[in-house]
Amino acid sequence: MSQTKIMLEEKEIPTRWYNIQADMPNLPKPPLNPRTNQPIGPEDLAPIFPLELIKQEVSTERWIDIPEEVQQIYKLWRPAPLYRAHRLEKALQTPAKIYYKYEGGSPSGSHKTNTSIAQAYYNKQAGIKRLATETGAGQWGSALSMACEFFGLECTVYMVKVSYHQKPYRRLLMQVYGAEVIPSPSQLTNAGREILAVDPDSLGSLGMAISEAVEDAAMREDTNYALGSVLNHVCLHQSVIGLEAKAQLAKVDAYPDVVIGCCGGGTNFAGIGFPFVYDKIKEGNKVRVIAVEPAACPTLTKGKFTYDYSDTAKLTPIMNMYTLGHDFMPPGIHAGGLRYHGDSPLVSQLYHDGLIEARAVTQKGCFEAATLFAKNEGILPAPESSHAVRAAIDEALAAKEAGEEKTILFCLSGHGHFDLASYDTYLSGKLEDYEYPEELINKSLANLPEIK
Ligand SMILES: *Cc1c(COP(=O)(O)O)cnc(C)c1O
Repeated sequence: MSQTKIMLEEKEIPTRWYNIQADMPNLPKPPLNPRTNQPIGPEDLAPIFPLELIKQEVSTERWIDIPEEVQQIYKLWRPAPLYRAHRLEKALQTPAKIYYKYEGGSPSGSHKTNTSIAQAYYNKQAGIKRLATETGAGQWGSALSMACEFFGLECTVYMVKVSYHQKPYRRLLMQVYGAEVIPSPSQLTNAGREILAVDPDSLGSLGMAISEAVEDAAMREDTNYALGSVLNHVCLHQSVIGLEAKAQLAKVDAYPDVVIGCCGGGTNFAGIGFPFVYDKIKEGNKVRVIAVEPAACPTLTKGKFTYDYSDTAKLTPIMNMYTLGHDFMPPGIHAGGLRYHGDSPLVSQLYHDGLIEARAVTQKGCFEAATLFAKNEGILPAPESSHAVRAAIDEALAAKEAGEEKTILFCLSGHGHFDLASYDTYLSGKLEDYEYPEELINKSLANLPEIK
């Protein structure tokens, strides 16, 4: 069984998403209204989300049908290929088998289109005309811009100011798809104006951009908000990744000992991992499922499991999750998509309950791994995805050490074609490692909301 590229037929694309809320031993504590500290109801979310997505957010149904129209669009890039990394295995001289699920073949270059298409669809069905969102590195902004264009919706993207200037190509891609892109913090919202009044030179953060996009959506009847990570319905939509991977592995009689995903808000990790966590819960399988985060933003490994705000202006629901504190200022590491202070409540709860593992890695080792990967497999990983590559290589080297024939599966969440400037920094020897210092974490954790 030494196939390199394992495909599915079009008719084998999943027709239902998998919802882990049906099977978790403990559901996350409910999100709270940031003004009253009381559990939120659908009416709190209705000004910014369509009803179908609100229902998915709290659903405990195991399987949720993927709408026909969404399935049709998925066919543009799904089923996504699963590769066996023969050449990388050889380079590492490992007895381990390494498989990777490649999500970078989507039109915008990452897994984010799996949810952007679904979200645009449900908003269109609900009669919404325009979506507002934020983007850090630009992956989510481009995925949503494309989805909005497909469904005839307008799209406004608040892009973290530092990325707006440093990543012109991502911004241009969004503009090609027809989106309006605004550097955040901006003068267009109260949240933006308040930040600029204090710091006119603010370079922005994901937390600030979320505040602006949410305010924009709340103020206009015809506009909703869309989030590309963290939320339960986003994890749900990403389950197509793991469902397909499982079916592909079955075609070559394989099953993973270890499943790995990089973790920012946690959704590509949820996508590849949750269908295997299901096996763990339901079938007692011993599979290890590992979330990999940057040492510069160590949410799961060094954060606190508690209620926190998801944005800087405290407009969004308070969620129970691992967090570094809502005013955590992420250092300028290159994996822009992994710089969020919080984490998916579902991923957080599973980690808290010991059903998944987490590990933090520094960026130099990630670029080293990504470069070795590109040399052997050809694909240039996104800086975010390079965290998963690092962990997969480490697992393969450990297997070599132990003389174990284990099977490793990881999610290659996107390509790095728009991130070559960060490879330039790496190749010219200027990349620096950074671990977020404990005392700064403690400082920002001192500002958590007081619940009861
Ligand atoms: C956005 C992004 C991530 C991080 O988001 P998750 O919700 O943790 O998946 C990871 N990889 C790529 C390529 C991204 O664009």
